[in-house]
Amino acid sequence: MFKLIQCAENTYYLDSFAKVGVYYLGNNEVMLIDSCDHRKSVKDLDTALTERNWKVKFIVNTHSHLDHINGNGFFREKYGCEIYAPETEKTFVDVLALERTAYFTAVPMRTPFNPTFVPTGERTKLLTKDILPEGFDIISLPGHTLNMVGIKTADDVWFTADSVLAEETYQSYKIPFFLLIDQSIKTAEKVAELKGRYFVPSHAVPGESIKELALFNADALRKIKSFITSIADGRSFEGILEEADRQWRLDYNPDKYTKVGITVKGILQSLLDEKIFTADIENSRLIYKRI
Ligand SMILES: [Zn+2]
Repeated sequence: MFKLIQCAENTYYLDSFAKVGVYYLGNNEVMLIDSCDHRKSVKDLDTALTERNWKVKFIVNTHSHLDHINGNGFFREKYGCEIYAPETEKTFVDVLALERTAYFTAVPMRTPFNPTFVPTGERTKLLTKDILPEGFDIISLPGHTLNMVGIKTADDVWFTADSVLAEETYQSYKIPFFLLIDQSIKTAEKVAELKGRYFVPSHAVPGESIKELALFNADALRKIKSFITSIADGRSFEGILEEADRQWRLDYNPDKYTKVGITVKGILQSLLDEKIFTADIENSRLIYKRI
């Protein structure tokens, strides 16, 4: 069972795969920062809140990924609460099909990625600082997605969403999901400088400091970018993915192939923007070439 852990006077988090922030507002009401990754964590969070007789007043989504919004529908139905999401992310939360379509840059493959995800597209409201309780702060953390945000509670606890991941994720997954590589590096460096008394990254161990982990992320992302740069010349997108697997043993399945492909495409676009590479059609394939 995933437990609700107190990390400051009024700040808690559900210790599930995608951590959920819970802030006690008083009068038996809480706000949630994100809303669980799958049915089991939704159920465990619901149990923890019910045991304390706490009701959800509103939900803030840090970004649109399914593992952060899966409980939106459940908690809205139970409490009639509002859900807020940052600009752009909001559109993807409202219209879930957009996210899948964006992943494939076409109509999504029919096979469900992961049957434990059962989110519903929920109409959200625009997340701005005014809707947050006094003493809260919000920071833009673009890169992993277009407009992800981090939230600081009035207890000085930062929820840094997916801006930085655990070292083990880089060791096992090798090329994790980051939509925009250069912004992701800048964001990790920005997170390294955040001041607060406690930090809760969604997919890493929370603690009193995040600096070391954030700098590790910035470095790991730079290494991924230079790896792709080193194998891209003269290859197509598919050829680059094939070579990346050959050298780094990525062990693709359809889900991982798609997600790694998104990170790689972001890197290739960055190389085109920096005018280090060009891309041209050769024998009916788009080939990347070092200038
Ligand atoms: Zn994410």
